[in-house]
Amino acid sequence: MVLGHDLRRRAFLTGTLAAGAAAALPLAAATPAPAAEPGIADCATWGARQPSSPLTLVPAPPHKIIVHHTATPNVTDLSRDQAFRLARSMQNWAMDDRRWIDTGQHFTVSRGGFLVEGRHGSLAALRGGAQTVESAHCTGQNTLAIGIENEGTYSAVDPRGEQYAALVELCAQICGQYRLRPYQIYGHRDFNATECPGDRLYALLPQLRRDVAARTGGDPTAPVWPLLHNGDTGDRVRALQHLLVRRGATVGVDGSFGPATEQAVRAFQTQVTATSDGWAGNQTWHQLVVPVRRGDSGEGVKATQLLLNARRGAGLTVDGDFGPGTEAAVAGFQSGAGLTSDGLVDARTFARLLA
Ligand SMILES: [Zn+2]
Repeated sequence: MVLGHDLRRRAFLTGTLAAGAAAALPLAAATPAPAAEPGIADCATWGARQPSSPLTLVPAPPHKIIVHHTATPNVTDLSRDQAFRLARSMQNWAMDDRRWIDTGQHFTVSRGGFLVEGRHGSLAALRGGAQTVESAHCTGQNTLAIGIENEGTYSAVDPRGEQYAALVELCAQICGQYRLRPYQIYGHRDFNATECPGDRLYALLPQLRRDVAARTGGDPTAPVWPLLHNGDTGDRVRALQHLLVRRGATVGVDGSFGPATEQAVRAFQTQVTATSDGWAGNQTWHQLVVPVRRGDSGEGVKATQLLLNARRGAGLTVDGDFGPGTEAAVAGFQSGAGLTSDGLVDARTFARLLA
């Protein structure tokens, strides 16, 4: 659900009130199964309107999946027709109220466990595995993340078992097609100042990562970020400053978290609609970090190099060029930290470098 508009959408979509009849979740790990494509109803099947403008295809796979709830009533109508009605009303809300060119999210999971395509092209891009349809579900992440809406409001109750099982299948399919790792599944509140996807669904995300990992393989352990604030000093602050510079801040990279760094953090948080508190924590790191690998260059590489020097005495020149020396140092760090030794600095490797 899109930040700040939950109540408007809730009003727009009001149907029957929540019946509080959510079924208990099967929390046992899912049985490994071939990743057959779950049946996702495409836009034509549910009667979508055409987009108001051409959609943008990002020529790269996404980095992550972001889970939302629709903040609509927990309906007791579990039919396919209800899933399609929801898809149409969400598209109408997005296009008529928000003036977006199409539905915001890529996919939706109904209370009855039906899967539908949201924004046009999402299903074709998923099948291709190499492109991402630019979306409108999470400020700061719309070119980087697949957005999944779950019908209902999961602040005080869990999703229904069928709905959760369909979400697991969809996430496994997305991870398989885009070669994502189960720990790259997040909740909307990891990025923006929002209650979405509700306390109960958010609390289920570690289980979701484990259940997806049981299907696709891979480690489901999500990154844990340090909390940095005014008065802190050292290499972690220096790394933060490099990432802020990468995003356009004019802050000195001096390893000292003073008023200028705090102001830069606040400005960045406002820009990406994260909680604007001037502290660099979960939302801020998630928004700042992008994967870097051999061949990349720039401030994100500098941050990686200085942390490799600090953690491993790698002796790298902090020049922002990710060459073979940096790659070897990354692989060595990963091996020592019990991570997959692939030389790719994604969010989890970067978080371990900061730890
Ligand atoms: Zn959301």
